[in-house]
Amino acid sequence: MSNLRFEALKTAFEHKTTAVEMPEGKVKDYFAQNVFTREKMKEYIAQEVLDQLFDDVDNGRTIHRDIANVVAIGIRKWAMDHGATHFTHWFQPLTGGTAEKHDAFFTLKNGALMEEFSGDSLYQQEPDASSFPSGGIRNTFEARGYSAWDPSSPVFLIGDTLCIPTVFVAYTSEALDYKTPLIRSTAALCHAAREVCAYFDKQVKHVHANLGWEQEYFLVDESLYTARPDLLLTGRTLMGHNSAKSQQLEDHYFGAIPARVLAFMRELEYEALKAGIPVKTRHNEVAPNQFEMAPIFEDVNLANDHNLLVMSIMERVAEKHHFRVLLHEKPYAGVNGSGKHCNWSMSTNTGVNLLAPGKNPYQNLQFITFLVTVLMAVQRHNGLLKASIVSATNEHRLGANEAPPAIISVFLGKQISAVLDKLEHAKAEEAIIINAKKEMKLGVANIPEILLDNTDRNRTSPFAFTGNRFEFRAVGSSANCGAAMLALNAAVAEQLMLFKNEVDARIEKGEAKERVLFDVIKKYIMACKAIRFDGNGYSEEWKAEAAKRGLDCETSVPKIIDNYVLPSSIQMFETTGVLSAAELHSRSEVKWETYVKKLQIESRVMGDLVVNHVLPAAKRYQTMLLQNVLAVKQVFSADETASLNAMDYSIIKQIEEHSGAILEGVEHMTDARHKANRQPDERSKAIAYHDNVLPLMADIRDHADALELIIDDEMWTLPKYRELMFIH
Ligand code: ADP
Ligand code: MG
Repeated sequence: MSNLRFEALKTAFEHKTTAVEMPEGKVKDYFAQNVFTREKMKEYIAQEVLDQLFDDVDNGRTIHRDIANVVAIGIRKWAMDHGATHFTHWFQPLTGGTAEKHDAFFTLKNGALMEEFSGDSLYQQEPDASSFPSGGIRNTFEARGYSAWDPSSPVFLIGDTLCIPTVFVAYTSEALDYKTPLIRSTAALCHAAREVCAYFDKQVKHVHANLGWEQEYFLVDESLYTARPDLLLTGRTLMGHNSAKSQQLEDHYFGAIPARVLAFMRELEYEALKAGIPVKTRHNEVAPNQFEMAPIFEDVNLANDHNLLVMSIMERVAEKHHFRVLLHEKPYAGVNGSGKHCNWSMSTNTGVNLLAPGKNPYQNLQFITFLVTVLMAVQRHNGLLKASIVSATNEHRLGANEAPPAIISVFLGKQISAVLDKLEHAKAEEAIIINAKKEMKLGVANIPEILLDNTDRNRTSPFAFTGNRFEFRAVGSSANCGAAMLALNAAVAEQLMLFKNEVDARIEKGEAKERVLFDVIKKYIMACKAIRFDGNGYSEEWKAEAAKRGLDCETSVPKIIDNYVLPSSIQMFETTGVLSAAELHSRSEVKWETYVKKLQIESRVMGDLVVNHVLPAAKRYQTMLLQNVLAVKQVFSADETASLNAMDYSIIKQIEEHSGAILEGVEHMTDARHKANRQPDERSKAIAYHDNVLPLMADIRDHADALELIIDDEMWTLPKYRELMFIH
C-alpha cells in the first residue's frame, strides 16, 4: 500500500536548490523597475499636469478628472511599453489579503479592437464585489461597492498586469476595506500633530506616520505541505506531536541560512526591490524553518501596500522553489509563532522624527509631548488596539512562546522611564528654565540625543518604545497591518486634539505657553501610569495587576472584538473622521463572521483528519498487533504467551482508549458546531465556537498526538513535525 507521507518525503528529498538569476546591474539600476515612479512619470506626462497632480496628492486633495485622463494615458503607455496587456484595481477587502479583477487594455469600437484605458478606468472600477464581506453595509444601504484610485501610492506591474492601488467603498461611501480608513487616519493624525507641533516649530506643515514592518514567516517543502490537508486548508497544523528536537537549542536563530532557502530569499528580494520595496534585512527566526524579512520604513500607507505586495510575491516565489510560505501566526503548536512587528513613528516635513529625542530643549519638550500623548492614547484605547490585532489565527499566538500576552501595555525602558519620573516630580521652575535671552532649558531631564539603551529590550512586550519609534509587536504575521495602524493613528490623533484643547484653553486665560505645556505633560505622565509596564508580561502577577489597573484582560477573541463598538471607540473614530458608527458595526460583524468561518473550516478539517487518517492508521496497527498476539498464542505455551504479549496488550489497549476518545470527541465537536451555527447572530456564533468548539478540538488533538507516538512510523500518513520543520 502506498503512503502519501512517504511519497511526499521522497519528493521533498529530491527538491534541489533552484538557480536564481541575478538582475543586471546594481540595486539602484533595478530598484522600482516595475513601478511607475514620479521620476518615470516625467517621461510620459507633461510637467504642468504632474505639478498639479503631485501638489494635489501631497496635500490630500481630490484629483480632477481632466488630470486623471492625462495621467491615465501616460500610465497606459508606460505599462504597454513594459509588456502589460491587462490592468486591475488592487484593493484590500476586509477578508484580508488583496483582491484584483483584471481587465484587458482594449475595447471594441464599431467592431474594431481599440486600445483603451481612460481616466475613468483609472479612477473607478466596479468589481463584482457582492461576495466580499461588508458586515451588512451593502444590505442596509442597498449599495454596490466600487474601487477608486489612491494616487498617493504608485501603480506597478505584476507580470503582464498593471496594478492600481485603490480604496474599496460602498456607493453610500462607507469603507469596505482597510485602505480607506487608513488614509483617513493619516489625514487626521497629520492635522492634529501639525497643530501640536506649532507650539514648538511653526515651520511644520505636514506630519507623516511611518511604518517599518518586520514580516515573519515559515517555509515548508511543497510536497509535505500538500500531504497535510490541515496546512492546505487552514494554514496551520491541527495536530502533530512535538519533534524531539525543536527550538530548544535556538540554533536556528541567526544561524546560516540553508542553501535552498537562501535561493528563495534572494529571488524574493530581487522581486521585492523591483517592485520598489526597500527590503533590507533577512534572517532566520527562532523556530526551525522560520524566517523574517524587513524593509526600510516608509509612509504608513505605502508601507502597508508594500507589505501586502510582499506577502503575495512571497507566495509566488516560494512555489518556484518548491516551498510553500506559511503566513499563519501559529502553524505549529509548541514553537514560536510569527508576528509582524509594526515599527511606527511620526515625522515632519522638516525632517524631524517626533519620537526621537532632539538636539535642544524645545525639541525635547516636543519629543516628550508626543511620547506621553501616545502613552495616553494607548492607555485610553488599549482594548481597541487589542481588537485591531486579534483574529482566529493570531489567537493561537498571543500569550504563547515568546509572543506578547493578550494584554496591551507599553514598555519604555530604563532611560525614558527615568526621564518621565523626573519630570513628574519636578517643579516647573526647575524643569524649564528660561534665561534672560528667552532661551529655554530643560533643567531636569537631560535627554541623551541617541538612546543607547537598545539592549534594554523586552521581547514579549506588545508595544515597546525602541529609541525613536514604537514597536507594535502584537500584530500578527498574516494581518493587514492597516487595521492596527489606523486604530493607532486615530487614537493618537484624538489624544493630540485633546492635548491641544487643554493647552489652548489655558493659554487663552493668559498663562505662559511653556508653563502650560509642562503642566499638561506632567498631568499626562501621572495619568498614563496604568499602561506602563516593563516587567514580565507572562507572569500571573501581571495578569492580576493589569486587571487592577483597569486594562483590558479579555482573552476571548469574539469578546475582544466588542471593543470596536465601545462608546469611547465610536466617539474617537467619529471625531477623527476615520470611521463612522455604521462602519464600526459592520467591521465588527465582519470580524465575527470571519472568525466563525475559520473555526468552522478548522473543525471540519480536524474531523476529516482524525476519521480518515488517524483512526484508520490506528486500526491497521492495532490489527497487526492483534494478529501477532494470536500467532504468539499458537506458537508458545500459555505461560510464555502472557509475558510475550504484555507489550502488545498494552499498546492495543492504549490505541483503543485514544481511538474511542477521538470518536467521542468528534461527535461532541460536531454537535457543538451545529449548536453554534444555530445561534441568532454572528457574535453569539463566534462566542459559541470559541467557548465550545475550540476546546474540543484541543482534546481531540491530544489523543491524536498520543497515537502518533505509538503507531508504527510506516503506517502514519501525515508528515510529522520533524519533517515539516527540518527539511529544507
Ligand atoms: P529588530 O528586529 O531589531 O526590531 P529590524 O532592523 O528587524 O529590528 O527592524 C526594524 C524596523 O524598524 C525596520 O523596518 C526599520 O526601517 C524600522 N524603523 C527604524 N526606524 C524607524 C522609525 N523612526 N519609524 C518607523 N520605523 C522605523
Ligand atoms: Mg522587531
